[in-house]
Amino acid sequence: MNAQTQKYYKIITYGCQMNEHDAEVLAGQLEQLDYLPIDNDAEADLVILITCAVREHAEQRVYGKIGELYRLKQENPNLVLAVGGCMSQQEDVAKKLKQRFPYLDIIFGTHNLTHFPELLRAAQASQETVLEILDREGEIREHLPQVRQDGLKAWTTIMYGCNNFCTYCVVPYVRGRERSRQPESIIAEVKDLASRGYQEVSLLGQNVNSYGKDLAQDYDFADLLRAVNETGISRIRFMTSHPKDISPRLIEAMATCEHVMEHLHLPVQAGSNRILQAMNRRYTRERYLQLVDEIRTAIPDISLTTDIIVGFPGETEEDFADTLSLMETVRYDAAFTFAYSPRGGTPAAKMLEQVEEAVSKERLQRLNELQARISMERNQELIGSQQELLVEGPSKNDPSRLTGRTRGNKLVHFIGPEELSGQLVPVRITQAQTWNLFGELI
Ligand code: SAH
Ligand code: SF4
Repeated sequence: MNAQTQKYYKIITYGCQMNEHDAEVLAGQLEQLDYLPIDNDAEADLVILITCAVREHAEQRVYGKIGELYRLKQENPNLVLAVGGCMSQQEDVAKKLKQRFPYLDIIFGTHNLTHFPELLRAAQASQETVLEILDREGEIREHLPQVRQDGLKAWTTIMYGCNNFCTYCVVPYVRGRERSRQPESIIAEVKDLASRGYQEVSLLGQNVNSYGKDLAQDYDFADLLRAVNETGISRIRFMTSHPKDISPRLIEAMATCEHVMEHLHLPVQAGSNRILQAMNRRYTRERYLQLVDEIRTAIPDISLTTDIIVGFPGETEEDFADTLSLMETVRYDAAFTFAYSPRGGTPAAKMLEQVEEAVSKERLQRLNELQARISMERNQELIGSQQELLVEGPSKNDPSRLTGRTRGNKLVHFIGPEELSGQLVPVRITQAQTWNLFGELI
């Protein structure tokens, strides 16, 4: 192919790892069409936004970006602009996108990623926006080409969708019902990754603990972890886990599989039973704390992280105090904290007692301050300990150091030769900060 006809694509991804994974699948399809990736939007022939609908803030960023891309389109009318993902999966949002930005070439959803080449052909042949939103999830398609980000860590989606319908959350509406991939395909994929030199795999799903419930055979997430543990890959991570579905079998599998990392992301969302119930989380504060005890008994040095929402409708100062005290009791290693954002079509958006933004913001700040103190303390407790690191490469902020992650998923900076990149090395922790650690090679 000569330089004049070579086409370039740019994919811009918002939101969670599911979207990152979708971007890898799209990239795989585009490269089969002989497109090459490019960093600079202005040099691309095709720009695709994979959008997130979980909070309003992410949506605002997408609207801003589309406006920005319009200027490029004015300079280069052949530029193809496509918007996909969780925002456009919602029919009303897709319509709004089409009306507000008539110059978009393609609007597609989450269930028709694999139609993208056809949509692209249709867009190139038409002046109109090509819009395709499927309201039902299709069959899971295996063996799709994927372009993976680096040669070290890979994501593998083990299941799609979510059945939980937490009352604040849009995910079940935009990602459909739970569908598990066949264990054999997942295992074959991880074996292949290991044979190509990948060291780490993250098994992804909105609620990996309900993996297998929809399969014909009797096979659950604990079985899958045990099988993936035998594939030759060095490190296995997974997310996300719903507390209501963590089983003793799973805790045992985590404790006994040496390649499964000592880290669990266990979103609690709130510390008050009243709010947990209004969120439809289906566990109590007491049950959650008991689970944390069981996990820590089985895996004493596990690192625990969580997601928390503040300002859910009806949250009083007393409810919020329960969230603070739960955080203090569990002592998470890190927490992703969010101010509640009403999402169209979800039950919580219609609840009457919406909390004022200023109140949510102030609570969020107090929560973050508490977590920062706890994260710092947890990191200080690691000083002097020996940790196994997977070395990722030179540190972004200080290229004279290398950066790696512990089994507990903490970032450690240390001095060492660059050839260690991609390897597992032992270090001793010498210094702690709130969000990272410093160490020395042993
Ligand atoms: N399936 C995962 C995560 C889904 S979205 C789980 O159940 O944990 C990631 C996080 O975004 C959620 O855990 C929640 O904390 C947050 N979130 C989801 N909807 C939200 C909303 N409407 N407002 C604020 N935060 C939200
Ligand atoms: Fe959303 Fe709840 Fe499903 Fe997570 S479990 S994706 S928060 S509905």
